[in-house]
Amino acid sequence: MDLKKREKFCYPGGRLKALIMSYDDGSEHDRRLIEIFNTRGIRSTFHLNSGKLGGAYHILPGEVSNLYKVHEVSGHTVNHLHLDQLEEEEIRREITNDRRALEDLVAYPVRGMSIPFGTYDHRVLLILPELGVEYARGEAAGETGRFDLPDTFILWKPTCHHTGALEAAERFLGAITSRMMLFMIWGHSYELDGFLSTDTSKGWKYMEYLSDRLGRNKEIWYTTMIEMHDYLKAIDGIRFSADESIAFNPSAVPVWIKSPEGAAEIRPGEVRKLFHPDHL
Ligand SMILES: [Zn+2]
Repeated sequence: MDLKKREKFCYPGGRLKALIMSYDDGSEHDRRLIEIFNTRGIRSTFHLNSGKLGGAYHILPGEVSNLYKVHEVSGHTVNHLHLDQLEEEEIRREITNDRRALEDLVAYPVRGMSIPFGTYDHRVLLILPELGVEYARGEAAGETGRFDLPDTFILWKPTCHHTGALEAAERFLGAITSRMMLFMIWGHSYELDGFLSTDTSKGWKYMEYLSDRLGRNKEIWYTTMIEMHDYLKAIDGIRFSADESIAFNPSAVPVWIKSPEGAAEIRPGEVRKLFHPDHL
């Protein structure tokens, strides 16, 4: 991907900041978390283990499509095992059967995942694209602390875990930027309930406050991992004329570009004259 090229673009509506929440495991606490997100316009990617749905403390299969409706359902393997400890065939089954089961519930292609425990080896990385996995976040596998766009979608690192997100949120909100920023927060909703949590002060009240700070902000594009993936791919696919005054968007995703008159939308399939070449 051409990082310089990306600097010409902005998010939908001319925004320059985007927020993605990314939550793993599909525990029953997702219900309360989703209520907090939905009332504040925040969107999240939820990585589910299809083999655990309906089990103790987990979401029921029958509620998946409705509960996660405005969010993204993404893979997390069938049984939440350490993939690097499995035979190659088992790795394939864990990923593909999870996709199939989740797709049966949501009725759209599940194209991304979070790697359980963040444990993987070179076999896992080679297998992912073969199985139609277009992005993968490693659970607990490194955080950037930054608001940069991803330079790779396999092992896409988030900004931080939700326990450290309030400090990062203030930096994000206060930042003055001319390029697209991405704030990605990850976690598990059960941690907010004090279960396996390393910091009990970071409970539901904390998440409400964090979401109050980050939600309902006109400057922020609230999106999901797959939407961001598709948006950045669409940007990478924009074709320009030699003098860069005309752009063609061959993708199915509307893309927004900065222009002297403000942001301009280039619709799917559109050839758009951006400005007169004399203005270059
Ligand atoms: Zn997990």
